[in-house]
Amino acid sequence: MTQKTTQKLVVANWKMHGNLKQNSALLTDFVENLSALKHTQMVVCAPYPYLAQLQSMLQHTNIAWGAQNVAKNEVGAFTGEVSAAMLTDFGCKYVIIGHSERATAYCESDENIATKFVQAKRHGLTPILCVGETLIEREAGVMEMVVSKQLDTIINTHGAAVFADAVISYEPIWAIGTGLAATPEQAKNMHLFIRNKISNLNIEATNRLKILYGGSVNPQNAVQLFVVPNIDGGLIGKCSLNAQEFEAICHAAETSVT
Ligand code: PEP
Repeated sequence: MTQKTTQKLVVANWKMHGNLKQNSALLTDFVENLSALKHTQMVVCAPYPYLAQLQSMLQHTNIAWGAQNVAKNEVGAFTGEVSAAMLTDFGCKYVIIGHSERATAYCESDENIATKFVQAKRHGLTPILCVGETLIEREAGVMEMVVSKQLDTIINTHGAAVFADAVISYEPIWAIGTGLAATPEQAKNMHLFIRNKISNLNIEATNRLKILYGGSVNPQNAVQLFVVPNIDGGLIGKCSLNAQEFEAICHAAETSVT
């Protein structure tokens, strides 16, 4: 099954970068140079302390914003956590869930990730669920099995219907921050696998699901990746910290639709 995309989605993941001054310069540039885009939804996901800055600088623009993590609990004695309701208080529409950097550094289990995914949806946030295999797993040829298992944790506990109006970002771990992106062929196969897995369970959900590619996307490879069937946009790390590069990636998304 191939999903016909009418709108692309390009998400900046700033990770733990930025400060008030740098963010302001970057956001001003984004707003100036991306305002004409009609077929691409842009999103900036910044560290928690800057969500208020995103809200004040991006409201009334065509760029949405979000966070890079969310608590699995609703409210309570969870020192250091930030709840989904708090994110919506600051106008967030999106939240990244299960990024491999968090899964590795903070031992996030698939079960935790599944709970966060549903918690985000409960509060009207669009979860951007990161899935992907390590290099060893790809070399062993088990990448589809790995991604399938990551999705199954959510499907088995909450059903495939939760993927309606959600985002899955295929992020091969070996491609994140390495400069070595997946080839369009590798990405095409995995995106088709993900689309088919969800569509076999719930057609309605797959029709309302976006599947992004993330991992060393740059202005050059974006042009090739964004025309691949079932690649609905990208999750962008390093290049989202450079205004010209991020804007070129957004323009590549726009051109791929028009
Ligand atoms: C990411 O952080 O999700 C990512 C894809 O990073 P990069 O673009 O730097 O590989």
